[in-house]
Amino acid sequence: MITQAVLICVLYGQEYHVEAHVIGTYGLCPGCWSRDTLREYDRLESAKRHARAAGNADTLTLAQWLAPVAVFNGKCGLCEVRPFEEIGILDACGGIALDNCFPVCRSCRTHLVHGFDLAIARIQGYLQADNP
Ligand SMILES: [Zn+2]
Ligand SMILES: [Zn+2]
Repeated sequence: MITQAVLICVLYGQEYHVEAHVIGTYGLCPGCWSRDTLREYDRLESAKRHARAAGNADTLTLAQWLAPVAVFNGKCGLCEVRPFEEIGILDACGGIALDNCFPVCRSCRTHLVHGFDLAIARIQGYLQADNP
């Protein structure tokens, strides 16, 4: 007996049918499925879990997240040089929401959080020391 299940695609909301024994946890229909999209879905869901745990907003949808990823061509939105590696958050208390998230590389995220002052002071300390 083949048991069919009807699922709702998490990307654009259309129904799709799968055999019950292949139901995964992902929820992308065959038309939307790609390794890249799946990776972004995982990234987004993980970020939303952390936001929820911290009591912040978690309203960003997969389609809303894929838009800036495409606009910045898969690059970091701050430096536009390196491939992005994380979901950047503009306002630390703003959560994972449409007006608060952009693709960012790890280096730029570090500088966004800590600023450049500490890094500049470190370099100045090095350059001004009496190096042999
Ligand atoms: Zn779909
Ligand atoms: Zn960057």
